[in-house]
Amino acid sequence: RAKELGGNRYEVADPDADARVITRHGLTNRLPGALERGEFFVEYQPLIGLSDGAVHGAEALVRWGHPVHGVLGPDQFIPLAEHTGQIVPLGRWVLEQAVRQAEVWQRHHHGSRAPRVNVNLSPIQLHHPDLVAEVTRVLDETGLAPESLCLEVTESALIGADQDALKPLRRIADLGVDIALDDFGTGYSNLSSLRWLPVSVLKLDRAFSRGMSHHPADPVDLKIVEGIVSLAHGLGLSVTVEGVETSAQAEHLRELGCDIGQGWFYGRPAPPEQLGTLMLADAS
Ligand code: C2E
Ligand code: MG
Ligand code: MG
Ligand code: MG
Repeated sequence: RAKELGGNRYEVADPDADARVITRHGLTNRLPGALERGEFFVEYQPLIGLSDGAVHGAEALVRWGHPVHGVLGPDQFIPLAEHTGQIVPLGRWVLEQAVRQAEVWQRHHHGSRAPRVNVNLSPIQLHHPDLVAEVTRVLDETGLAPESLCLEVTESALIGADQDALKPLRRIADLGVDIALDDFGTGYSNLSSLRWLPVSVLKLDRAFSRGMSHHPADPVDLKIVEGIVSLAHGLGLSVTVEGVETSAQAEHLRELGCDIGQGWFYGRPAPPEQLGTLMLADAS
């Protein structure tokens, strides 16, 4: 396990193991100041309409270009940044980058539809008093339509949140910004919470795509996704599905009525220029 971690830190998924790696290598010391030193960058992964194959937009995913340890994935430093509070300026920076980028795409790489951008929000940001003002400011400064932005929050971030805690999110949703429930279906999905959460998109965790890697697909996964799609559409929500790695998965998920797909089959996270090219190709 340790060897595995040492060999390919970029792909590691176990957050506890990540925390250990970070502590062991003393990454903790370098995190403060990393933003000022320009060590973070954002990659974008395409979001594709399953029915027409068009580029719907992209999800912003932050990376840390560490001068010694190479490129680190978010699972390796976000928990630490949340612990130190650095997630607040870092998250603000990612939001700014992503919104500016979406505005650039819309000006120069306009395909069959105006590309949108998704940004992940940490629970810490969600509870920070400046969140609504920050989102409003970035949209105002860039002129990006609120409808072109989607903020992704995980189910677990909203569990136990009372109505007061949800007020900022509701105000952001009222601006016209989409709110997505990320990694949906992995936690203790409280379905009745969909009644009062200001959410417009369900983002199915890639665990569901996994059951559809082969023909025939796992019949239980098919039924579960079919049910979730029917529930979501019945409530006026759209469904995005993560972890689409093969054409078989894409085909199953399209047939089940999922709206948007994301995964290696369509494209890995990449620099913004690459997404721009994809969006332009889409226009023809
Ligand atoms: P997420 O929001 O669920 O993002 C999807 C993750 O799945 C990304 O990992 C992406 O690279 C990976 N992925 C995409 N397609 C496939 C596929 O087909 N197969 C497989 N196996 N994996 C795929 P990444 O970039 O390592 O990000 C991990 C998590 O870190 C994200 O999960 C998100 O929760 C968090 N994250 C990323 N950027 C930010 C950020 O700016 N702020 C905050 N707070 N969290 C972030
Ligand atoms: Mg996400
Ligand atoms: Mg996700
Ligand atoms: Mg996920």
